[in-house]
Amino acid sequence: MSQKIKQLLMKKQSVQNIKKGNPLITEKDIQNIDVWAEGEIVHLIDAQTKQFLAKALLGKQNRAIGWVFTRQKDVHLDATFFEKVLLQAIQKRDKMTIHSNAYRLFNGESDGLGGLTIDLYDKVAIFSWYTVALYQYAEQIITCFKALMPNCQSIYEKARYEKAHFDTRFVLGVPQDKITISENDVKFSTFMNEGLMTGIFLDQREIRKYLKAHAMGKTVLNTFSYTGAFSIAAAMGGAKQSVSVDVANRSIEKTEAHFALNNISMDNHRCYVMDVFDYFNYAKKKKLAFDWVILDPPSFARTKKRTFSVVKDYKSLLQDAIALTEPNGHIIVSTNAANFSVMDFEKMIDTAFKELEQSYRIQRIFRLPQDFTTLSTLEQTNYLKVYIVQVRK
Ligand code: SAH
Repeated sequence: MSQKIKQLLMKKQSVQNIKKGNPLITEKDIQNIDVWAEGEIVHLIDAQTKQFLAKALLGKQNRAIGWVFTRQKDVHLDATFFEKVLLQAIQKRDKMTIHSNAYRLFNGESDGLGGLTIDLYDKVAIFSWYTVALYQYAEQIITCFKALMPNCQSIYEKARYEKAHFDTRFVLGVPQDKITISENDVKFSTFMNEGLMTGIFLDQREIRKYLKAHAMGKTVLNTFSYTGAFSIAAAMGGAKQSVSVDVANRSIEKTEAHFALNNISMDNHRCYVMDVFDYFNYAKKKKLAFDWVILDPPSFARTKKRTFSVVKDYKSLLQDAIALTEPNGHIIVSTNAANFSVMDFEKMIDTAFKELEQSYRIQRIFRLPQDFTTLSTLEQTNYLKVYIVQVRK
């Protein structure tokens, strides 16, 4: 069994990072980077002292080329290891109060294993594989998971690594392609086997709850509305009117289904399939204004007419929204872009208002909910930034 394990020599700053508990490795961290292979397990060595630091599994995932999985030489990527990290993650969630039967059960590197997330939708689990390196262990990991979660009735998986030969598929158990989940007394239809997305973004749970609690009698504009999750949360909280805008055709049918599921008539709730920026022009012409405006754009989007990138274009998006907000109304300013730092995001908000000579107040700041565990040593793991901003007029 004494196969020679490759040694990667870590540069000085990177040694400190690893010692602090940051498990992410990039090419820049390593002195002898010339040869590395997807799926290889390596020893990370302090280039100066030649001391053993950690073991990592190499696999490409965005900027990362691998993740540390242990700082002990005699720990291996095997059933014992998988069982340990999975059990810890399950026990952590058991102690949390999550007002939903859909939540993140395992969150990659923040739960001890970079490259895998597991979401639970009632009794169905969705495994998302972010590296082909870790996917090699899929069967072993799923076997451990099944033993630890006997109540889980079926498993689906999504491949999120480059050049994967599938994006979503049923793995085992009883196929349940459609699941109704219940979150904070609102029902949502979710789809286990339709591409990479399921119909709901579980990480926005607390924001839906907040909106529901503040929606009574209000008018709501939900832009980039997807399946209308924010709209139905607002309607369940007593919103008197909502408008949902999304460029994708599917959004109407899915949003209407959410209203039907929760027994709310659509009489005062509208859906438009259109570009948000076109809607803004229309709304300006009609002099419309809303008590709540929700901005939760994708990090990057290309429609027939334009491209949108959060880092470049959020400020003008926010300024459009300010123009459509009632005096003392609120805007939900949200992004899940990991490359948009909290500081830059706050600065962007401030500049947007200052340029319009508008005063504002930040009422609440939300980051990821607790089931989406994060690492304090790696800011990008807490990618979600949601600011509830009041427009003071
Ligand atoms: N806020 C939603 C999730 C948004 S996902 C929620 O919490 O459920 C991003 C959505 O933006 C997708 O549905 C996509 O179709 C839509 N989208 C992207 N570019 C758009 C544009 N220019 N105008 C309108 N919708 C857009």
